[in-house]
Amino acid sequence: MPFSEDKLKLVYTVKELCRVCYTCVRECPAKAIKIVNGQAEVISERCIGCGNCIKVCSQDAKVFYQSRIEVKSLLQSDSKVAAIVAPSFPAEFTEIKDYRKFVGMVRALGFDHVFEVAFGADLVAKKYKELLEDRSGKDYISSDCPAIVSYIRYYHPDLVKNLAPVISPMVAMARVVKKLLGPDVKIVFVGPCIAKKAESKEVDEALTFRELRGMFELAELKHEEIESSDFDPPHAGRGAIFPVSRGLIQTVNIFDDVVEGNVIVAEGRIGFQEAIKEFESDSIKGQHLELLCCEGCIMGPGMTPGGKRFERRTYISSYVQQKLNEENQDDWEKSLQEFADIDTHADFNPLDRRKQLPSESEVSKILASMGKFSNRDHLNCGACGYDTCLEHAYAIVEGLAEVEMCLPYTIEEMHASLKDLAVSNEKLAKVQQALKQSEKLAHMGQLSAGIAHELNNPLGVVMMYSNILLDEYAPDDPIRQDIELIASQAERCKKIVSGLLNFARKNQVKLELINLKKLAEDSIKSVVIPNNIKTAVVCKASNCEAQLDYEQMMQVLTNLNKNAIEAMPNGGLLAVEVDENESDVIFNVIDTGTGIPEENMEKLYTPFFTTKGIGKGTGLGLATTYGIVKMHKGRIEVESNTDRLKGPTGTTFRIILPREEGEDVER
Ligand code: ADP
Ligand code: MG
Repeated sequence: MPFSEDKLKLVYTVKELCRVCYTCVRECPAKAIKIVNGQAEVISERCIGCGNCIKVCSQDAKVFYQSRIEVKSLLQSDSKVAAIVAPSFPAEFTEIKDYRKFVGMVRALGFDHVFEVAFGADLVAKKYKELLEDRSGKDYISSDCPAIVSYIRYYHPDLVKNLAPVISPMVAMARVVKKLLGPDVKIVFVGPCIAKKAESKEVDEALTFRELRGMFELAELKHEEIESSDFDPPHAGRGAIFPVSRGLIQTVNIFDDVVEGNVIVAEGRIGFQEAIKEFESDSIKGQHLELLCCEGCIMGPGMTPGGKRFERRTYISSYVQQKLNEENQDDWEKSLQEFADIDTHADFNPLDRRKQLPSESEVSKILASMGKFSNRDHLNCGACGYDTCLEHAYAIVEGLAEVEMCLPYTIEEMHASLKDLAVSNEKLAKVQQALKQSEKLAHMGQLSAGIAHELNNPLGVVMMYSNILLDEYAPDDPIRQDIELIASQAERCKKIVSGLLNFARKNQVKLELINLKKLAEDSIKSVVIPNNIKTAVVCKASNCEAQLDYEQMMQVLTNLNKNAIEAMPNGGLLAVEVDENESDVIFNVIDTGTGIPEENMEKLYTPFFTTKGIGKGTGLGLATTYGIVKMHKGRIEVESNTDRLKGPTGTTFRIILPREEGEDVER
């Protein structure tokens, strides 16, 4: 038994199929669709069962409550079961030219009786006629569309008093059937509507035409093979025109001229909402509203999708035409007389499901989180499914929507994150490169340390003995020159070994408070400056003192100065700059020399890498520098330009040393 005041789940989402287009949000007049984690969910207590979302979902992700199983078990039970068929059936079963074949098929499914709801419409029309003729100043809203009735009860409860106090044709027909067959007969409504499934307890089940079609297929019923059979009496008259828009008016047959008459017909989700708003604001006083959620019941969500509206209308009109030609007016009026005592009065009560408007501060906070700070930022593009940014913000506060649904904002965010991602990728690549480099150098360091250590002792012996020998020969002895060469070359080897030891970071650092500017000046003084080279020492740091190993740092700056001078054979400027940031002291050794080609950048600190001729460069200057800087837990950066077209050529070596002894991390 599906009917209940507290709403059965009339419509729900197949999550796997939902593709986040927000079309259902836009099309839902009740704003009964909530987006959670990018997926649409129907909120049953807000849903009016109009089925708009089903019609617009291109992915078939919205489905409605199916009653086929319940109907089947009714048919298999001992009870008598009557089908009451909505008058829109000719617009659905267009392939069946003779409606009697259709009725035959319904009977073949096992229904004991098949009635026309259109007769119920005739009865209801009578009531409407009375009501509209004697309105005693009251404006009415038709109450034949259950989705409209729910919409007004939930969202415009103040207008419930204006709902025409008339039962729907379906309920009227159910009462007719009960009167005819007794209270035990089971009644199954068949029609184009989903909202009907929850409309009234007086009907046992409600099938859509789509479900009925499915049942025909399952039972392999073919209309060509079915015996014709007419509807059970009482037969309908003009009520059969009910499912097309203005149908009620035509049925009532009193207000044919809509322009001059005081009936406004509004259909479809936009039309009916607009009409209600205007009606509410009293701008259309003295008018009766005929409202339909769909564009006529013939476009209901229980119809097979894809049908054409005006074509469907023609099917209904020609069916009605045929009926009116065949039918006996006297019989029809007799039937109306027979069932004139059916109570068609209905009472509707409000069921307020409106949400409280959120506070202004809450809304502005949400708007700000979508980058909307002033009215100019409200694009009202509708991409989120809400007509305005403000409505979207309300929905977010109510927990129905998400910030990400704002397309312009999300696109902007995405662009920003793409940019961030590119920047971090670039940083990552640089860090990776540096890591690879320092790993390689660390391996080399180990090897050099081994070699240097092993060479140190024998070298010491060579130096000591060559000096002893020197003492043994007179100053003018010719052999003395050879021994002096041995001693000086051994001295050179010693320097190389000490360079390697520095590179391998095997030396101790003796920290003392030193003046950085003085260190820079001393370093310039310790190298021979050719005439064509100008020098400068600049101190930009506010604190010009730091704890460093004077000797070793002196060696670093001297090495860098030498390289700078060697890179400026045609003269230029050598500047040593002392600088600082929050945590480090910085030396910039700047030259206007030839610059370092890109392909050499990676090899600079490798021991014995030199571009200088044999006997000129040892390729140990930067390796030593690197080792010493690492011993100080600092790092080296180089910027260089070799391309005149890009700007002045030259190189800057930047030595960055922590003021405080930090952790011994590889930099
Ligand atoms: P060496 O000076 O003995 O060649 P270094 O280790 O000091 O060894 O330098 C290695 C190489 O780095 C140099 O041969 C040179 O190609 C390059 N180099 C270093 N500093 C500079 C600079 N300021 N300008 C141009 N090239 C440089
Ligand atoms: Mg050098």
